Amino acid sequence: MPAGDGYDYAVPEGMELSPGDIVTVPLGPRQVTGVVWTDASDPNVPDAKLKAIIERYDVPPLAPQLLAFVDWAARYYMVRRGALLRMVLRGEQGLSDVRGKTGFRKAPLPDDVRLTAKRMAVLEAAGEAPLTAKDLAERAGVTEAVVRGLANAGALERTVFDPDPPFDAPQYGLPGRALSPEQSAGAGELRELIAEGAGTALIDGVTGSGKTEVYLEAVAEALRADPTAQVLVMLPEIALTLPFLARLEDRFGVPPAHWHSDVSSAQRRRVWKRVLDGSCRLVVGARSALFLPWQNLKLIIVDEEHDPAYKQQDGILYHARDMAVAMGARQRFPVVLASATPSLETVLNCEDGRYRRVELPSRFGPAVLPEIRVLDMRGEGSESGRWLAPKAVGAINETLAKKQQVLLYLNRRGYAPVTLCRRCGERMTAPDSDTWLVEHKYTNRLVCHQTGFSMPKPDKCPHCDAEGTLAPCGPGVERVAEEAQERWPDARVEIFSSDTVDRPGSAKDLLKRMTAGEIDILVATQAAAKGHNFPALTLVVAVDADLGLSGGDLRAAERTYQVLSQVSGRAGRAADKGRVLLQSYQPQHPVAAALSSGLRDDFLNAELLSREEIGMPPFGRLAGIILSAQEEPKLMEDARALAQAVPHADGIEVWGPAPAPFYRLRGVYRQRFLVRGTKRSNLQAFISDWLGAVKPKNAVRRVVDIDPYNF
Ligand code: ADP
Repeated sequence: MPAGDGYDYAVPEGMELSPGDIVTVPLGPRQVTGVVWTDASDPNVPDAKLKAIIERYDVPPLAPQLLAFVDWAARYYMVRRGALLRMVLRGEQGLSDVRGKTGFRKAPLPDDVRLTAKRMAVLEAAGEAPLTAKDLAERAGVTEAVVRGLANAGALERTVFDPDPPFDAPQYGLPGRALSPEQSAGAGELRELIAEGAGTALIDGVTGSGKTEVYLEAVAEALRADPTAQVLVMLPEIALTLPFLARLEDRFGVPPAHWHSDVSSAQRRRVWKRVLDGSCRLVVGARSALFLPWQNLKLIIVDEEHDPAYKQQDGILYHARDMAVAMGARQRFPVVLASATPSLETVLNCEDGRYRRVELPSRFGPAVLPEIRVLDMRGEGSESGRWLAPKAVGAINETLAKKQQVLLYLNRRGYAPVTLCRRCGERMTAPDSDTWLVEHKYTNRLVCHQTGFSMPKPDKCPHCDAEGTLAPCGPGVERVAEEAQERWPDARVEIFSSDTVDRPGSAKDLLKRMTAGEIDILVATQAAAKGHNFPALTLVVAVDADLGLSGGDLRAAERTYQVLSQVSGRAGRAADKGRVLLQSYQPQHPVAAALSSGLRDDFLNAELLSREEIGMPPFGRLAGIILSAQEEPKLMEDARALAQAVPHADGIEVWGPAPAPFYRLRGVYRQRFLVRGTKRSNLQAFISDWLGAVKPKNAVRRVVDIDPYNF
């Protein structure tokens, strides 16, 4: 095995092991968790030299098809198997708990207990069901010592328990909602797919057409058809909301297991263990749920399949939709994608007959699609500090007069994207990066949105020392909200962005108030664009509909189209017809034209054609090679050496090196190459030959990004 990709160990007398078993082994001075890959030993390593396995966990082994998939995915993404396995073992901290744990639960309060605020928090968090000291402390926001102290004082009862109760089995036999004829036909097609036991389908349905209802039928069918089948419903993290979980609970009679970055470590451990032992049959999760230790995965739903959030942008650079489809194809189970604005990759796969397309062309019930108009901003003569065009202001007046709600969409956090000195022209940038600092007025700080660096807004220009000359340029959501509040002083205006909903529960609270009609104007970034239904929302104004169209990114037009349709889809979800106004300086752009005409497929076809002409995905293949280093000369040296060593291969081209976007970030410089190949070319083999031939310069990091985004 290549170094770092696996090690040989001796098996102690009496320990029975098979591939997939999870074990503890010594690694240098540490003990680590590992997975038995094969029982074949390397004949070149004498047994006497081997260290022995310490312990085998008393849990089922990882399934052989999962190990095979890890093998394949590691080769595809050109990463070590160990790195992928680490994702699979993410719930591993629970492994030591398989035997039962000491738990703490409520007890009658003795009279002589001294009560502090921290102790009160623990008593409030404790219930009838026992919790470990760690979990209870986590819930109460205190240290474990506080919990133990209370138990010693007799205010909590100690008891032994299994900290990870099984999940209730989903009741797939419950009747779902009555489906429309369109929905029934779609559900029928998906049931066929389940019966065939393999293949990929796309539910291509406009926003509000009831795609969820249709794929839940497929979920029910998969659970029914095989009593041990497991099903994963995958959503972009941000769309995994409580209303969505409630909908699943409605359909299957039990709360579904869910998996995303916000769930507690106790919940993670529980889901992980129960997926591994096969008893957890339905998981709703974000992209990383794909790497749970599945025993018998039989169906994956990928909702909002076009969403760029499926592409992981750090660590292992995988695309969860692509991996779901690959997993289904290799393990022979069906995969269902759903979207109102499918990605070009998926559209092409449908057109070529590789995917089955299930269409839902109309909204469910009386709701109709909103009317979308483009407001030509050229010649509107903008007043300074004003971002809403007169026609938009008129439409907002009418909407508020009818006691209906308005969404002002701008995908820019903060107050102003650029801070400029009006005297010397200096633009505020982060000290060790090439990124602009964004003013946030509520916190009165300048923030770098790439690295999270922030500093108080200075009184003086750091360049020319002039006082009071730093001026905000352009709008962010805070600034648009300020304008809305000035124009409509009686309206209840709120901001929805990752800054205002960063505490757990705050997003929920804001959405609840919006649904209850307690907000008149919601100024929102993309964070609010997905999955929410606000019945009284009838007007959406995209403040800057051109954002995202420029920038040289291959997918800029496609993404702008997707986001604006998503946002537009928030309008008029109930009986009242919705209206959408797109403020644009490029009203003739195909994206604007497609949105206002509703001719989505014309846009997709034009976009496909242009990608085909330049041999770009989905017609060709791409990979990025990113070089980074703290020392610029070393970086350039490595880049030059690589540039001189590009091998020749038919159908493969290498572009670069060129500075990566944000060339300097947190003091690290970055250059990149782009490798383009035809559909049939083996980019991985090419790249591994190329990079293998040039030893990297000391302290230069090379990262391969297969199927990159943001290029
Ligand atoms: P999509 O995911 O296609 O945007 P949803 O599945 O969220 O659409 O459905 C849109 C709305 O219509 C939701 O409020 C949903 O509850 C409702 N809906 C869809 N199908 C049905 C049905 N068959 N019966 C009752 N309500 C439905």
